Amino acid sequence: MVHVLDTMPLGRPGIIAATLLETDEGPVLFDTGPESTFEHLATELSKIGVRPNDVRHVFLSHIHFDHSGAAWRFADFGATIYVHPRGAPHLIDPTKLIASATRLYGDEMNRLWGRFAPIAAERVRILQDNDVVRVAPFEIRAIATPGHASHHHIYHWNENVFGGDVAGVRLGDGPPTPPFVPPELDIESWLESIAKIRALDPAKLYLPHFGLVENSISSHLDALEERVRRWSIWFGDRLRAGTGEPALIPEFAAYAADELRTAGANDEQVLDYEQADPSFMAVSAALRYWRKHHPEQIASAV
Ligand SMILES: [Zn+2]
Repeated sequence: MVHVLDTMPLGRPGIIAATLLETDEGPVLFDTGPESTFEHLATELSKIGVRPNDVRHVFLSHIHFDHSGAAWRFADFGATIYVHPRGAPHLIDPTKLIASATRLYGDEMNRLWGRFAPIAAERVRILQDNDVVRVAPFEIRAIATPGHASHHHIYHWNENVFGGDVAGVRLGDGPPTPPFVPPELDIESWLESIAKIRALDPAKLYLPHFGLVENSISSHLDALEERVRRWSIWFGDRLRAGTGEPALIPEFAAYAADELRTAGANDEQVLDYEQADPSFMAVSAALRYWRKHHPEQIASAV
């Protein structure tokens, strides 16, 4: 039995999920949401008869705050936190992570993400690609899936995949969009990661933003892949023409919002997507990607 728990960041429903799997060893979480929503998550857990200290295993897709921020709270209760090798050092010593997020969010850090504390090294367990953790009756496999972040895992058990951010953001009945964020966006890796999810052919795909996709997983992945390719090309074309970041931010925001409206989203849903997957971050992510991976293909002035 899987429960999709709504963490309700800033009081908004349907943006960030913590996904809970019932096992013989108690409840297992896939991502925790940010620390700012921990108390709300505790309330949601209590509705299904779970206390935070019942959670013994927390599998993180990656360490961005909206996914891992509350992990230290569960670690303090004795949970083991599973993470990609490149994510682990930042959980044990979050100084750099906090500094880079503070550059991005400034005074909003606490309101958006809450508090951060280091996780004791003995509570962190590093998973390599294809490592399996037995949590009876399941075998949960970590699969390295870079693209959104270089240190990203999806998790596979039975017919299920917990897809993290590489599997796209899909809110309400909206379309799947790829969260392009700096500094590790890598289009080629993202496409390979989508192919890995496709090869698993899951019956159920769980998204941290937001919830269960079933029956339409292959069309979800097709639509996601199409956007990863098209958005990357959209940015590449503009960078080749010499358009800089200040002009690109409003232009891309309008492009992404138009696309959502065309797909049937109302204004509220456009705001939800913007909260889950901010368009300004996509601009700096794409700029960095093109400069780092294909500098010869863009204008030298950019
Ligand atoms: Zn992320």
